[in-house]
Amino acid sequence: MPLYVLIYAVAVFFFNNVSLYFTKRLINNAVRTIIEAVYMSNEDFEKLMRILIIEDEKRIASFIDKGLRSEGYVTTIAHDGESGLLLACDQEFDLILIDILLPKLDGMEVLKKVRDCRPAVPVIMLTAKDELELKVSSFDYGASDYITKPFAFEELTARIRAHLRRKDQVNANIMRAGELSLNLAKREVEYQGNRIALTSREFALLEYLVRHQNQIVNRMQILNHVWGYEFDPESNIVDVYIRYLRQKIGLSKDKPLIETVRGAGYRVVTD
Ligand code: CA
Repeated sequence: MPLYVLIYAVAVFFFNNVSLYFTKRLINNAVRTIIEAVYMSNEDFEKLMRILIIEDEKRIASFIDKGLRSEGYVTTIAHDGESGLLLACDQEFDLILIDILLPKLDGMEVLKKVRDCRPAVPVIMLTAKDELELKVSSFDYGASDYITKPFAFEELTARIRAHLRRKDQVNANIMRAGELSLNLAKREVEYQGNRIALTSREFALLEYLVRHQNQIVNRMQILNHVWGYEFDPESNIVDVYIRYLRQKIGLSKDKPLIETVRGAGYRVVTD
């Protein structure tokens, strides 16, 4: 058989198989997207956890990616530090995995810069056995955790679940009403991004009103829940504290957050 026939045959075989591989991948991805779009409500989609994997070793990235997808996470991969950082700051992720040794921008630099744009997202560093010093300093730069390669997939998912759970608890501690947010764990209040210092009684009153936002609560209900004992119903203490809150939060008169409903009580209005 002449050599050019052989080369031609090899080329055809190679082309067919390689293009078949890509076509199959393309079809698989399309089918998956269609299934997700058809069977998932917006609410389900919102519940999906998004994880960014910044790992240059393709074999490891794909091992993590496949595993996490099979657990129901939505994943995005970046193979170098620069593109990883861009994605991390540009899109919302629930958790980020960062390898330490990365081309273009190393993992520690990525971590530092991710902390500037995403201070709260949990970040797990992927480290090699002999990078002890880096592991320690990664905590200084704001890593939430690290995992040493090679690792069992179970270990990774256990840590991911733990960090996502913690994140959920933090969210559960935040209560919002319009531009007002209350951190119940830290007893802190922010309005339009400004921290407001409140006494514990003022905080309790505001928390009660926000818990019942858009409902009218009367003075007796407020007295019972916030002052917690039989209080003279004729007392004007509730009105006094409402006034304190309005002064401290600096609410404008034309769009009051805490509304007085004449003869009925008060209401925090957000809709
Ligand atoms: Ca690496």
